[in-house]
Amino acid sequence: MSGYEAMHMSTPDSEATAQALSDYCLDRLAMDAPLDRPASPAELAAAAGATVTAEGLGSAEALRLWADVLGPACISVDHPRFLSFIPSAPTKAAVSFDMLLGASSIYGGSWLESSGAVYAENQALRWIADLVGLPEEAGGVFVQGGTVGNLSALVAAREWALSRRSGVRPERWAVCVTAETHSSVKHALRVVMDVDVIEIPGDERGRLVGSTLRRVIAELSPAAADGIFAVVATAGTTNLGVVDDIDGIADVVAEHGWWLHVDGAYGGAALAAPSARSLFAGVERADSFIVDPHKWFFAPFDSCALVYRDPRQGHAAHTQRAGYLDPVTIEGEWNPSDFSIQLSRRARGLPFWFSLAVHGTHAYRDAVEHTLDVARSGAQLIRDAPHLRLLVEPDLSVLIFERIGWDDSQYTQWSARLLEEQVALVTPTKHHGRVCTRFAIVNPRTSVADIEMLIDSMR
Ligand SMILES: *Cc1c(COP(=O)(O)O)cnc(C)c1O
Repeated sequence: MSGYEAMHMSTPDSEATAQALSDYCLDRLAMDAPLDRPASPAELAAAAGATVTAEGLGSAEALRLWADVLGPACISVDHPRFLSFIPSAPTKAAVSFDMLLGASSIYGGSWLESSGAVYAENQALRWIADLVGLPEEAGGVFVQGGTVGNLSALVAAREWALSRRSGVRPERWAVCVTAETHSSVKHALRVVMDVDVIEIPGDERGRLVGSTLRRVIAELSPAAADGIFAVVATAGTTNLGVVDDIDGIADVVAEHGWWLHVDGAYGGAALAAPSARSLFAGVERADSFIVDPHKWFFAPFDSCALVYRDPRQGHAAHTQRAGYLDPVTIEGEWNPSDFSIQLSRRARGLPFWFSLAVHGTHAYRDAVEHTLDVARSGAQLIRDAPHLRLLVEPDLSVLIFERIGWDDSQYTQWSARLLEEQVALVTPTKHHGRVCTRFAIVNPRTSVADIEMLIDSMR
């Protein structure tokens, strides 16, 4: 049998490959996550060489390269002391289902092709809509990440504004954000949508508050204010873990008839925690909302839940009409591709759905609450440590603080040493131009003892 025919057939060889990969996955699921480290291009070239060849390496060699060289050159974001950026900590059930999803060849763009998957995903979206407090008819889609979720929501907002203006475009469209709004939102507006970004000054913790928004808007020229169609409130800023004054913002949005988009990519998960719920007052007034299950809702990469208050607005903006798509645009059946900029789609809400179905929502509430407890204890340890200064009082689970007296190079050496010793991934960052560090805690296996140890390493 020639090579190409064997590729799609079950043979002793393909079964051995599948077995070896399953064994590898089961081992990875059972072990404590290795931290691992980046390698340089030269190191990888020397150790892996050219991997794509005319004749193929064979599965044993390709897997060996992965297991020995390439895999260890990828940091595991679920390591409990991976505390930089926003980590991810998928449940065992979610990861296991991700393997099943990969084996199932499901096209998640249409009801026709994936009704069972879309039904399940929509139940997971319903739980999120309930946490937000959105009405019964709310709905949306799981997309690749917050970047695509935010962009899709803002495109829907602009289409809706255009229809309210009877198709008459302003000179320039504009959206209000703050300095702490995620870079992907500003990029989507400026580069992808060609929309002006009006940056409203935040308060001392960088929060967007309704009164400032109202004042800044009142000072704009009528021409500048004319093109505003939405405000983006951040429910948990990525850098500081702070929640905007959503209710106050919603008041101003309502006065002007704009669209309120709430970006909860990182922090939206804290809606599940009763101790944090009051921070989100007013979120139920959102026209659209996103949260990334791959951040603090324990799903593997990559997954963002996008929910519209009135999904018809998402549908009006995103439904693609083309002859070859006609059979899938059937009224009453939920086509995920109608709600975002993306057509072909992995059913990327399913690992999250499966884990929710297995464990129940109370386990999610308790796991998020636990990470918040650890973050609050960590904040107290930092306040009490004479060598540290907490720079921003956290709302959620991001701790930003400085080591008094350290310069750039001391942070860099500390960070490099902890990675070299495979203890932690903690990187320097900047706040108001000053070098500092920042821990983001979303992993229920990150303990107060871990934070205590890292604080000690800064003495
Ligand atoms: C992470 C993040 C994003 C971007 O999400 P991706 O999933 O990385 O595309 C947007 N907004 C906020 C607040 C975030 O934390």
